[in-house]
Amino acid sequence: MNKNEKRRLRLFDLYSKNLSHFFPSLPNPSFMCPICRTGFLQEAVIDQSPAKDGSRLLVNIAHCYPESCGGKIVTLACKSCNNRMGTQYEHHLGIEKKLNQAFDHETSDTIAVKASFEAGNIAATFSKIGDVHYVTLDKDSNPYGHSKIAEELKVSAASNRIKFGLTFDRPDEERATVALLHTAFLMMFREFGYEYALSPMAEKIRKVLLAEEGPKNLDLPVLMIPKRSGDPRLLNTVGIIDAPPECRCFYAMMPSADPKMIGRAVVMPGSGEEGEAAISALRDYGGQNFQLSFQFRADDRASRLRSFVHRTFLRYWWDDYPPDFAVVAELVFAINAEKHGDLSMFVKASTLSEKLGLEVETIIKFATLAIHEGWLEANGEPTPSAAFALTPEGSEFVQHIPFWANG
Ligand SMILES: [Zn+2]
Repeated sequence: MNKNEKRRLRLFDLYSKNLSHFFPSLPNPSFMCPICRTGFLQEAVIDQSPAKDGSRLLVNIAHCYPESCGGKIVTLACKSCNNRMGTQYEHHLGIEKKLNQAFDHETSDTIAVKASFEAGNIAATFSKIGDVHYVTLDKDSNPYGHSKIAEELKVSAASNRIKFGLTFDRPDEERATVALLHTAFLMMFREFGYEYALSPMAEKIRKVLLAEEGPKNLDLPVLMIPKRSGDPRLLNTVGIIDAPPECRCFYAMMPSADPKMIGRAVVMPGSGEEGEAAISALRDYGGQNFQLSFQFRADDRASRLRSFVHRTFLRYWWDDYPPDFAVVAELVFAINAEKHGDLSMFVKASTLSEKLGLEVETIIKFATLAIHEGWLEANGEPTPSAAFALTPEGSEFVQHIPFWANG
């Protein structure tokens, strides 16, 4: 088994476990493509073609942001969604990247252009090095035109006036936007699994990704996060913009084609009407320079996605319960169920103690109190009042940085 196959199987196993929390009656481990919702069995990630190039796989690794543009994090999606998104949309992020590099004065990268002179057109390359723009004409592409243009250049150089046009590929803005939405959607799926992919808030993005609706109705803000003021740890994270409070939204921070940026964040609404209102509140700040606070969790995502207790993590987090509340609840649940001996309870409490910076005894005291006070529903779900009773402070990463709204 090669490395990629192991990786696919590991992801298949993770998402099928997560899916089983939402569809407990599934007979076999299954993967559901988060975009088109087609179901697949494990054989879909096993390469049976002799070529071993992965071309026959029905489900494959999906880079959240295109690998060719610097995307590093991955999830799983079906082959047909992967291909469609790649050729129709992500392609435009590739064009955008090339264009940015050609115009960046620190690199000598070039793009192919068409240069138009009065004497005719000729293929050329364009780049910017330092303050100078270079247009290099390709003589072989049009030898006759080249000599005429050379004549014209001599004349115009004498008068110190050289006029010519440049034509080059530009990304289709609407398609590039869909590619960014696709990245944000996959990042949310990677972080929250099917709790997000099956939620009503994912529905609108899915419709755009399936080309059932154009991206214009969604029009989600994209924030550019400059290197000089942001924390690089924000790149590739998803989380919540928690201040100013009227702008409370989800964000997915992905690479930017602009080398001066840490990345760009696609902002997505949370649930309900408040979610929509927050997006428009954020839009009202457009073009202004102001402080936003980003909050994300650096935790063991894989174990969280596997855990039954954490299957509603997103909801708790969005509803403002502390993220570690769910972990405390798990401990309480473990004690309550009396299926775990003292040792496993102690191990859980010590893990938690490290995470929250609290004494093990304090955590066990909390848990015991929670049982005594009946802070759990009959099904083991913690009740809302427990959230506040068990809140330890300061376990989240919070950062305040300025941002500029894009356009
Ligand atoms: Zn699909």
